Amino acid sequence: MSHLDPLLAEHYETVLQRNPGEQEFHQAVLEVLGTLGPVVRKHREYVDAAIIERICEPERQLIFRVPWTDDAGQVQINRAFRVEFNSALGPYKGGMRFHPSVYLGIVKFLGFEQIFKNALTGMPIGGGKGGSDFDPKGRSDAEVMRFCQSLMTELYRHLGEYTDVPAGDIGVGGREIGYLFGQYKRITNRYESGVLTGKGLAYGGSQVRTEATGYGTVWFTEEMLKTRGQSLSGRRVVVSGSGNVAIYAAQKAIALGAQVVACSDSSGYVVDEAGLDIELLRQVKEVDRARISAYADERGSATFVAGGSVWDVPCEVALPCATQNELDGAEARTLVENGVVAVAEGANMPCTPEAVDVFQAGGVLFAPGKAANAGGVATSALEMQQNASRDSWTFAHTEERLHEIMKGVHDRCATAAEEYGSPGDYVAGANISGFVQVADAMLALGVV
Ligand code: GLU
Repeated sequence: MSHLDPLLAEHYETVLQRNPGEQEFHQAVLEVLGTLGPVVRKHREYVDAAIIERICEPERQLIFRVPWTDDAGQVQINRAFRVEFNSALGPYKGGMRFHPSVYLGIVKFLGFEQIFKNALTGMPIGGGKGGSDFDPKGRSDAEVMRFCQSLMTELYRHLGEYTDVPAGDIGVGGREIGYLFGQYKRITNRYESGVLTGKGLAYGGSQVRTEATGYGTVWFTEEMLKTRGQSLSGRRVVVSGSGNVAIYAAQKAIALGAQVVACSDSSGYVVDEAGLDIELLRQVKEVDRARISAYADERGSATFVAGGSVWDVPCEVALPCATQNELDGAEARTLVENGVVAVAEGANMPCTPEAVDVFQAGGVLFAPGKAANAGGVATSALEMQQNASRDSWTFAHTEERLHEIMKGVHDRCATAAEEYGSPGDYVAGANISGFVQVADAMLALGVV
């Protein structure tokens, strides 16, 4: 992966020099460029039109101050970002992340990934991402509302259903999207439903949006297994994380006959040999906003392990659904030794480059996040469609559409990998398929 084609190596050097200290962004760019050698050899027109340089440089980057007042009357200052990366295929589209680790390098890695992910869905959406170093943990609803209102007071001028359409990500769920939409509506005096996705069902949200990322990850996994004549049924599955991606990945895996035996949060992990109780998990994490240990307190078959790695729990299918770089080379080796057959990234870039190498060298089916977790943003695009036509679809219809889209994402990856000489390599397939679609559109649109 790190052996770059000479046609690409100097562009990577430029990215390093232009974006000092942004380690996650460097990692995401290297991972993509590492697979594009055969593409630029075949299509010199991409090189001639400087597509690589242009695709690595965001069209626009916004950084702004977010002042707000906490419940004690103290003024707090956060920093917020929106990186509008590429609009060749449609309006910038991608979530907002609220987490203390957020800085420009994280937002740019996520925005860069989003370009290719969004292209892979086959929907007309460009790539963007945003966020803030605000930590919602321990904050009251009123504090979260004031923060969201202050953030939107700056961000609204950059948004629009044809311009830039944010959604959620880590730390941004239905509550935050509601406050953000309320403030957008108030400032603009426009009920522009399609300006944000992940909205509540009461005011323009889409069925299945909450479940979409997790469901999509599991369907992608099932498609990969099918290529080897296998399925999820009867398999032992471990998910990491316990946010909305992890919860609904577990739910769909169970629906397909798997046994999901562990999940985690930043404090540790729980093992439940009886199989995870999804309703209890939702109560603990979504309703009570409590730590994962509360799950084990409530359930006799479960044990909580403080700290440690959830990847020590043996499984056949691993679904990392927590955060970037959460699964390293050593953990990947443990998983391979324990007999893992498929790994699909529900989170964005959760496996380190070394971990990916270990899985691929071990013959494990491996799905990168930009393919496996594309169901979330795909359903956001379905939400935009419903908003534009002032319609709302049933759960069953929306779920069916999403399932078809995920099969399409899988097939696009598989076909591109085959065509460019790495059959079965979903990392190469996802990067190549996403890249070619965006590059062709950029070529057609001229130097803009
Ligand atoms: N944050 C999600 C992602 O990583 C969803 C983005 C969206 O729905 O716009 O794809």
